[in-house]
Amino acid sequence: MEYRRLGKSGLQLSAFSLGSWLTFGNQIEDSVADELMTIAYDNGINFFDNAEGYAGGKSEIVMGNILKSKGWDRDSFVVSSKVFFGAEKKGPNRVGLSRKHVIEACNAAIKRLQVDYLDLYFCHRPDPNTPIEETVWAMNTLIQQGKILYWGTSEWSAAEIMQAIAVAKENHLIGPTMEQPQYNMLERNKLEKEYRLLFSEYGLGTTIWSPLASGLLTGKYNDADPKDTRFTAIKTLGWLKDKMLIEDNIQKAKEIKTISDEAGISMPKFALAWCLKNPNVSTVILGASKPEQLRENLNALEVLPRLTDAVMKRVEDVLQNKPVIES
Ligand code: NDP
Repeated sequence: MEYRRLGKSGLQLSAFSLGSWLTFGNQIEDSVADELMTIAYDNGINFFDNAEGYAGGKSEIVMGNILKSKGWDRDSFVVSSKVFFGAEKKGPNRVGLSRKHVIEACNAAIKRLQVDYLDLYFCHRPDPNTPIEETVWAMNTLIQQGKILYWGTSEWSAAEIMQAIAVAKENHLIGPTMEQPQYNMLERNKLEKEYRLLFSEYGLGTTIWSPLASGLLTGKYNDADPKDTRFTAIKTLGWLKDKMLIEDNIQKAKEIKTISDEAGISMPKFALAWCLKNPNVSTVILGASKPEQLRENLNALEVLPRLTDAVMKRVEDVLQNKPVIES
């Protein structure tokens, strides 16, 4: 396993990490979740990603039970939660980024995960109903209380992150360390363009999500409508299926498959290694519903040197979506 610094912080995360969205407490049995975490940990993954909103809090309960039963040293892994969407029960103060919800959600996540503190705590989305000052102060309070070690954002705009940094600086508080954006061959703008100054000027770290575009970039949807996937297993995912499995995406996936075949690399590994080529990616969060998927994906590190400039250029020619950076 390779380890990368989370931005300019001193924390080192494995280049691949494991997330639990849609799978833990939902698509897969708890025994499979246990197997996935064991494979991950045994292969050097040190970061497990979670959120209050995943399976209405059940994902954290499943992960917490596994962490407890494994008895892994607390200093050998990093675990996260995210606040914004609320857990099982919704209500005006059970969602969002108010001081009340940020602090109550943190306490609840600690309980569900059965840990004494969260290593990473994310604002899962920006909250237009809470001043950024209030959220930054709440995060700083949690750090001072030892309940979280680092805080960050997910899918915030660069301007919102800059504002949080400015508030922290003005008040001598601890600002955001990392952001969790979507990043894959089909979704590049935030990571490759919008956050550029945050990387160069501030040293923001990133924990990127959906590196396989929900499985589309494994190539399994190229010629078939496979039965055993998140889209067939989870009835409420029609919105995601409609967004991902569009003709243009499938056409690109087919052309990328030709390139990965010619390079002798399976398409999932190719797509994951492509994400890791970007030095502003601190960790790629893997999702898996089956142990064999995770085993295959973990091998992507080995193919990284084979994504040469010439191969990357062929990929660009297919994608035609490289963000244009005005100088
Ligand atoms: P991916 O885009 O990588 O999709 C993972 C899914 O693709 C798997 O669950 C599996 O689904 C399929 N798959 C994975 N590997 C293979 C393989 N080798 N062969 C065939 N199919 C494969 O990532 P996710 O969308 O799952 O996101 C990863 C993590 O990122 C989440 O768990 C979560 O922690 C985080 N996340 C954060 C978000 C945020 O807003 N901050 C939003 C979304 C995710 P199946 O078998 O069902 O087809």
